[in-house]
Amino acid sequence: MPTRTIDETSTSDPQADAPISPIPCHDESAWLAEMKWAYRDAAALLQRLKLPASLAEGAQQPADSFPLFAPRSFVQRMRSSDPKDPLLRQVLPSAEEAEVHRGFTDDPVADADFAASPGIIRKYAGRALLIATGSCAVHCRYCFRRHFPYSEAPRSLNLWRESLQALSADSSLNELILSGGDPLTLRDLRLGELLELVSQLLPDLKRLRIHTRLPVVIPQRVTAELIELLASRSTRVVVVLHVNHANEIDRTVCQAIDALRSASVMLLNQAVLLRGVNDTLVSQVDLSERLLEVGVMPYYLHQLDRVAGAAHYECDVRLGETLIEQMRGRLPGYAVPRFVRDDPGMPSKSWLA
Ligand SMILES: *Cc1c(COP(=O)(O)O)cnc(C)c1O
Ligand code: SF4
Repeated sequence: MPTRTIDETSTSDPQADAPISPIPCHDESAWLAEMKWAYRDAAALLQRLKLPASLAEGAQQPADSFPLFAPRSFVQRMRSSDPKDPLLRQVLPSAEEAEVHRGFTDDPVADADFAASPGIIRKYAGRALLIATGSCAVHCRYCFRRHFPYSEAPRSLNLWRESLQALSADSSLNELILSGGDPLTLRDLRLGELLELVSQLLPDLKRLRIHTRLPVVIPQRVTAELIELLASRSTRVVVVLHVNHANEIDRTVCQAIDALRSASVMLLNQAVLLRGVNDTLVSQVDLSERLLEVGVMPYYLHQLDRVAGAAHYECDVRLGETLIEQMRGRLPGYAVPRFVRDDPGMPSKSWLA
């Protein structure tokens, strides 16, 4: 980490208050600028939101190993002067992260045990997950990958080729999942190379799935090139977004989602049940309604993975079960996500409700 963060010099940002550029845009400069000028400093973020700097007190230490990272386009959707804003709560480091809780570990889903070859995790029949990169466009404080040894993920085309070749002998493989980190932090050129490799080495694949938060946190990531890349696949492409709260979806996100749909992408959402973010019936119903409004199907609501530093986000499993039951009483069946938990060693995610 540089000792001077970008936000300390942000007066030189020419686009500080520029309106968000239209989507899809024709080059990558907009989203790369969003990455570059993202908030990396709690004091600057709190000042932007007219909140006291004391809210970040005591949080410095955990932030050092998994620093704050929140793009401006995401921050724009936070409410000013509201310390309980559900988007802010997802990204603001807190002193509670340093607390040690029994049962909360560095690799709660035991991914390390399921590493089939470098960067490939195989837990479930028919599906393989490729850690395409360790980078993300937002640092979610509750993330189960926050301690993941990303340096072991393949970084070059040759290493991707080796890992994918290892999968090509397996005729039971139907679906490749690009995950990370966030696979859409790869630039279009690199992503195109990866997708080409996938087509070459796994020609019988039925589906390509991409797990990403980028169209939500930086909607400008949905470039014309990306749409072209996705639209030209010979397999069905499924994009699983990660939206936890209805406030995350504004007009720009809606445009990015429309653009993805224009590439015939199937759109699903997964959320994590988070204390202080979306742990009420109203927030869950609003999230489902908002997702359907923009044409995204609620897929999973995850019980929090018990990762060290995230205990303050955990809700009781019974709360999740109750919320789902109450949602069933209010919404059409397709608007109710499955409440699941990642139990290591099981043949699928465990359906809790
Ligand atoms: C969650 C997960 C999947 C996908 O599971 P689905 O139930 O198909 O969404 C695949 N591989 C790994 C390693 C996972 O953790
Ligand atoms: S974007 Fe996904 S992988 Fe990255 S920090 Fe957030 S939850 Fe974790």
